[in-house]
Amino acid sequence: MKTDTQTDLRDSEPFATAFGDRFKRKQTLAKYTSARVGGAAEMFVTVETAAELQMAVELAHQHNIPFFVLGGGSNILIADEGVSGLIILNKAKNVTFRNSGVGVVCSAESGVNLSALTRKCISKGLGGLEWAIGIPGTVGGAVVGNSGAHGGDMAGNLLSAMIWVPGEGVRMFSNREMQYGYRDSILKHEQQQDSPRRVVLSAELQLKPEAVEILTARAEGFTAHRKQTQPAGASMGSMFKNPAHYYAGYLLEAAGMKGFAVGDAQISEKHANFFMNNGNASAEDIRALLAEAWNVVREQFGIEMETEVELVGNWRFDE
Ligand SMILES: Cc1cc2nc3c(=O)[nH]c(=O)nc-3n(C[C@H](O)[C@H](O)[C@H](O)COP(=O)(O)OP(=O)(O)OC[C@H]3O[C@@H](n4cnc5c(N)ncnc54)[C@H](O)[C@@H]3O)c2cc1C
Repeated sequence: MKTDTQTDLRDSEPFATAFGDRFKRKQTLAKYTSARVGGAAEMFVTVETAAELQMAVELAHQHNIPFFVLGGGSNILIADEGVSGLIILNKAKNVTFRNSGVGVVCSAESGVNLSALTRKCISKGLGGLEWAIGIPGTVGGAVVGNSGAHGGDMAGNLLSAMIWVPGEGVRMFSNREMQYGYRDSILKHEQQQDSPRRVVLSAELQLKPEAVEILTARAEGFTAHRKQTQPAGASMGSMFKNPAHYYAGYLLEAAGMKGFAVGDAQISEKHANFFMNNGNASAEDIRALLAEAWNVVREQFGIEMETEVELVGNWRFDE
């Protein structure tokens, strides 16, 4: 794996040849993230099918170029200094449905927006994904992070996932092989590693026929609850995982952190686990806010919270 921060122009050639003008150098990433912060990717490619996603990761792997798959950018904080290597923006969106005899199986490519997929399922009278309404990420991000809400999660729907394994090829992972836990999976553990990561190409989700009106009412209830409890605006959703026996938001609120700000980054007054970009926050502002919040909770309650959001790219403290 290359360790230098600058890939040279020769590294671009295979991607430029394969993807034409969907390949770019020095692409600003802020607009691809829900927090609207982050510097530029050295190399950037948009893929539109699972086959293209597989091709992009294989090319990167063959040429020893570090890569990162970007879904909805709603669970990451990208450094102001940007990201070395290749960012692969996943827009693989094909979805099919089939009757399995015991229900309906939805095969979704990993770049599908989870909330849009949920709405599609509801309109077809297929239930099971309503918990995901309003989650701004992709199926791939949700399969990796075991996203969940309102008592449901990806682990409760996933039958299997097609996964590209570095140096091995494509393999089907069963639900059990994903080793799901609270916002956790076998793939999530790779976020702490520098080595190439496994990539979700598509997922098979279990659904159950139910009346459209019932599904719609359930989803509307969840949406109303979200609107009531969570702030609108640019954020990454929950910054910290809930520690055992506590809600991270409660700990942050009890520590007096609601409204606390660094630059244009502020802890929401509505929900203390939401860190907002009020317009001109830098990634460094948000990271400093995160560090302060973590320290205050540790000092006041002796609890070391774990971030749910992943820090990506070239952070100054990495040097
Ligand atoms: C307003 C708001 C509300 C939210 N509410 C919730 C909620 O209720 N519940 C919840 O769980 N989360 C919530 N989130 C967080 C986030 O939306 C989810 O975690 C989402 O599933 C992340 O998906 P993504 O596509 O945006 O992932 P990204 O942020 O793009 O990526 C996250 C990680 O997944 C990896 N990844 C993405 N796609 C793939 C792939 N195809 N293969 C391999 N790795 C991949 C990335 O490389 C990265 O490591 C919320 C976020 C916001 C902004």
